[in-house]
Amino acid sequence: MERLEDLLRESLRKRAAADAFWWNGDWLKGQALLDAVAAEREALTAAGFKEGQRLMTLLPNCPALLTLVLAVWSLKGTLVPLNMRAGTDNLLPTIDLVQPFAIVVSRGDAKAAAGVLRYPVVEIEPTTGTLEKFRGVERKTTTPDWAVFFTTSGTTGLPKAVPLSHENFIDNVRSICKHFPIYPHDTIIWALPNFHSFGLTLSMLLPQYAGAKVAAVPAFMPPLKTLEAIRDAGCTVLFLVPAMLEFLKRSGAHNPIEINTVRAVITGGDRLNLSLDQASMELFGHPILEGYGTTECSPVVTFNNDEKTRKLGTIGTVLPGYEWKICDQQGNPLPPETPGVLKLRGKSVFRGYYEAPEVTAERLSPDGWYDTGDVVKYDADGYITVLDRLTDIIIVGGFNVYPQEVERILNVHPSIAQAAVVAMHHLVNGEIPRAFVVLKEGASATDRDIIEYCKGKLANYKIPRKVDFVESLPMSPSGKILRRKLRELQ
Ligand code: ATP
Repeated sequence: MERLEDLLRESLRKRAAADAFWWNGDWLKGQALLDAVAAEREALTAAGFKEGQRLMTLLPNCPALLTLVLAVWSLKGTLVPLNMRAGTDNLLPTIDLVQPFAIVVSRGDAKAAAGVLRYPVVEIEPTTGTLEKFRGVERKTTTPDWAVFFTTSGTTGLPKAVPLSHENFIDNVRSICKHFPIYPHDTIIWALPNFHSFGLTLSMLLPQYAGAKVAAVPAFMPPLKTLEAIRDAGCTVLFLVPAMLEFLKRSGAHNPIEINTVRAVITGGDRLNLSLDQASMELFGHPILEGYGTTECSPVVTFNNDEKTRKLGTIGTVLPGYEWKICDQQGNPLPPETPGVLKLRGKSVFRGYYEAPEVTAERLSPDGWYDTGDVVKYDADGYITVLDRLTDIIIVGGFNVYPQEVERILNVHPSIAQAAVVAMHHLVNGEIPRAFVVLKEGASATDRDIIEYCKGKLANYKIPRKVDFVESLPMSPSGKILRRKLRELQ
């Protein structure tokens, strides 16, 4: 059976004498990374780490995370990357569920893990990957085929634990490269958080698989520093989530930076505010290629793979390697332009949530079809449009309203920086749309102005009946607007 670390180590070996990893303004060569893998493997073995055990990380994006994952895999272990900024109280349920052998933090950050000290906490040097001496704890082991244990974003409820296998990732990175070739002369920015499947796969694993270079900025780095890193490392391909692009746009407006190396800007993970397309042109000279994925699919499912053929507002076409269908509530496949739930099957698709058989049975059929819970439609060319999550749809007097459609109209209002639309209880209609709006700096508008603006652009029942002005919208750590928190405000 193929294993990811063999493919990635082979790729580094081919580039032993070449620049492979940009970090803090310097380039590390492939050999330096391979040396770190060997030293970490030795340190893990000395600490008693065994096949099937899990090593947890609370690390920024850095060379040590790449080398550590390769060391863990070479010992047939599993990596569990968590959000170093989430706070130990929030992390404890996941830590207790996963039962790690040890938790690795950046040198000097051991305090960040205070409160979880019943698990061994060990420090690592983020550049060279030097691990201090430590002893792990014996834990029950799980299948050595699990490469990474992710948690979902918690957008719709509590995050779910998703173990993904070597086969899952290999299939996904292979399919991405068939859909959109990545070349050895490419440099990919790694600004997306590593505790989320999009960041770890697209910015860490994919460039190594394709033999391309990577330029890492710690996920919490200010937007201006990220723009400078893109310029200084000469990045060619940017994988971003929409919220990150929003921050880069604001920063770029205040501090114009000339960037002329980029060849593609790819976003996904959340609905795209279409006005960001222009911002992407201004910042990087390229429009956005929007895509879609889910943690359960390791993660990429679709994207627009070419600026000439892209369809703005769609998530593009499905990667080779998936079977897909769009179904009605009875599970029957639907024809083009008809809204239904997207279902997927293939080697990238997970095999079940960790220790959660009921939720697994709800989302994954015994014959391998994953129910994404996303309502989409497709056109005659196979381009898919996300209408919304099934759980976010607003039902107004029996008519479906997709919040994303309303948000897309609101987001191009000249005074609106960001908008989110949720259901509000209504005595007669059952539900009505309610908008939460963040105004642009210095802009003003009343709820009446916004409701008037929607008239003629949206059917009457889709127009928000209530508009609330807020300073900011609640966001998940991976940069998604949390509509469930807005619904709770009623
Ligand atoms: P949870 O499962 O914990 O509620 P989550 O669904 O946000 O969190 P992720 O795996 O991070 O977990 O995200 C996958 C989801 O993100 C998809 O199912 C879809 O709803 C949404 N998504 C991804 N890409 C897009 C996109 N381009 N447009 C709209 N929604 C998207």
